[in-house]
Amino acid sequence: MKRIYFDHAATTYCSDRAREAMLPYFSEVFGNANSLHSFGREAQKAVDSARDRIAKCFGVKASEIYFTSGGTESDNWALKGVMRAHRSRGNHLITTKIEHHAILHACQQLEKDGFEVTYLDVNADGIVDPKQLEAAITDRTVLVSVMAANNEMGAIQPIEEIGRICRAHNVFFHTDAVQAIGAVPIDIERMNIDLLSLSAHKFYGPKGIGVLYKRNSVRIDKLIIGGAQERNMRGGTTDTPLIVGMAAALEDAVRDMEKNNAHSAALRDRLLGRIEKEIPFVRVNGSRTKRLPNNANVSFEYIEGESILMSLDLAGIAVSSGSACTSGSLDPSHVLLAMGLPEETAHGSIRFTFGKCNTMEDVDYAVDKLKEIIEKLRNMSPLFHNQRGELKYV
Ligand code: PLP
Repeated sequence: MKRIYFDHAATTYCSDRAREAMLPYFSEVFGNANSLHSFGREAQKAVDSARDRIAKCFGVKASEIYFTSGGTESDNWALKGVMRAHRSRGNHLITTKIEHHAILHACQQLEKDGFEVTYLDVNADGIVDPKQLEAAITDRTVLVSVMAANNEMGAIQPIEEIGRICRAHNVFFHTDAVQAIGAVPIDIERMNIDLLSLSAHKFYGPKGIGVLYKRNSVRIDKLIIGGAQERNMRGGTTDTPLIVGMAAALEDAVRDMEKNNAHSAALRDRLLGRIEKEIPFVRVNGSRTKRLPNNANVSFEYIEGESILMSLDLAGIAVSSGSACTSGSLDPSHVLLAMGLPEETAHGSIRFTFGKCNTMEDVDYAVDKLKEIIEKLRNMSPLFHNQRGELKYV
């Protein structure tokens, strides 16, 4: 059976270049980068070079790059680390209702510890209003955390404007750029970003490795305590192969951004064009223009996203309903609800996220299957019959 992967926001495969770059560090060059002998020094050299190259991708200092286990750890560290280190200055944090759970659950934990969190609304396109953000800043505000691009419906946030506001009010600015890397140009200096999270498995690097960028002037508490790795800021044996693989993948992602975006946007436009023309009662969620080029999020009225997902899976097509982290639960997506979608519409939403290996033929094949699936599911749906007062929509 033909198998098609349209779930690149959940994870990507590891590119040949990243995999090949990593291989020697699993075997020949296996030393602990913190060991003083030649085995260790060899590994350390590779880690130093990877750190330099990653810093260069963002035009920042190598000393501002910290290796973590991925986006979740970087997000937790940024929020808890900054808020705990600056308790004497204030206890207020501002974020949005559409963040990833790595941010939202960290915020809930901080609230239990006595910190105050403001969760900003978004508009119907899923975009934060910088004016609302500015109005929420008080003299107790320490940190603002707004994602660069959303993982569910791809909305790109006005982070340059938000960065300017944070700088003007002397508030730290963190952005979760996990979905934006390789799709949205990020200029840390110009955007006044103080902390940034990224994760290699979203841009064709290995899983289980990420970065927290932290401006040198920002004081932060440790999150993972242990050895003196990462300049005594994050304990744990340095993962040389994954770090080397991440650096290779990031260089490719930054270099090929335009080409990859054009490829994804063409696939996305074809998919949406055909769906809107050929399938009734659909709604495209999120901004048409301020969105990740590889993201299409569509609600199919009167049916459950999970049923569509399972039927597509049986046809060999992988998509997501809501974010990968919430699938398994039947709650409607918190992101779509924050955009004002009714619960029933949010329940019927499917996320398609394209990648380098997808083709136009894949899209056409998927839409043909999707049409059959939607018709079949709607014909079985009491919701559809009640609403339409008829048996078939075709
Ligand atoms: N932040 C966003 C926006 C994400 O999409 C994800 C993963 O889906 C994460 C954070 C978590 O990253 P990781 O899987 O590396 O822990």
